[in-house]
Amino acid sequence: AKQQQRGSSQYFSAAMGSDARERFKLLKGLRTGFEDSQLFVVYQPQVELDSGRVIGAEALLRWRTADGRFVAPDQFIPLAEQSGLIIPIGEFVMRTACAQLKAMQSRGHTEFRMAVNVSMAQFRHPGFIDMLAGALRDCGVSGHSIELEITESMAMEDADLVLRVLADIKRLGFSVAIDDFGTGFSSLSQLRQLQVDRLKIDRAFVQEAQSSTAGSTIAQMVVNLGRGLGLTVIAEGIETEEQRQYLIGLGCHEGQGWLFAKPMPADQLVAFLAG
Ligand code: C2E
Ligand code: CA
Ligand code: CA
Ligand code: CA
Repeated sequence: AKQQQRGSSQYFSAAMGSDARERFKLLKGLRTGFEDSQLFVVYQPQVELDSGRVIGAEALLRWRTADGRFVAPDQFIPLAEQSGLIIPIGEFVMRTACAQLKAMQSRGHTEFRMAVNVSMAQFRHPGFIDMLAGALRDCGVSGHSIELEITESMAMEDADLVLRVLADIKRLGFSVAIDDFGTGFSSLSQLRQLQVDRLKIDRAFVQEAQSSTAGSTIAQMVVNLGRGLGLTVIAEGIETEEQRQYLIGLGCHEGQGWLFAKPMPADQLVAFLAG
């Protein structure tokens, strides 16, 4: 048994070793890929659920390698966060999204809201607020048209830090959404402390809502919680008409998902809004 155990632990560490090598290779590729402009931003429209009217879009990062393959954000963003590369990459996303927002505004879409994801590593970075202020200034936009999405787990990881940074963010005019809501375990009192404007129901609950009682209970509770706190509630990952109807029935007014539009390049977003 001992022999076997050692054997399996050897196998395990060998697997870990190759895993670490893989990640190192991927990180190296990400670093050079970022320098070689392989990273770009796509936009997924956010709509009013009953009318389908576009109210804004979420900026989502993409990486297409030199050989044309796409690496999923879920794979490379954690690496970027661990390595610190998320600081320059996050700045690139923010500046790209601000420039795109400016372009939409000059086409007359003055109410358009741009949502940008931010990581805990960015919150911890001492230059974060200056970066945000610089991006607004250089692009000639106001924070009032931009929403920063932070995850529920971030909000709980280091509440003091998050509260402090949020205060500065709000001073610049940004609104703030709690992303992937329902997947963490924040309490009502934690939520009340945070100066947030919107709750974003995680896709998992939207998709389970009709198939399981637990899923629908959570979806119902999240909408009620958000509305009770005076926040707007948006649902992500809406793929079917039934899901849209169901969410409207719960009192959720905004949404995002393949039913309306997939994430798209900037030029298509402009056409989508016009059409
Ligand atoms: P997220 O913020 O929860 O983004 C929503 C994800 O759901 C996106 O995946 C989007 O493409 C996908 N999605 C949207 N509608 C549907 C739908 O109807 N059905 C299904 N099945 N999926 C849908 P994506 O683009 O792969 O991004 C994954 C995650 O990577 C994001 O999750 C976010 O956490 C992170 N991410 C993406 N861009 C950035 C960024 O610029 N900065 C940071 N820090 N994180 C980012
Ligand atoms: Ca998001
Ligand atoms: Ca989300
Ligand atoms: Ca999610």
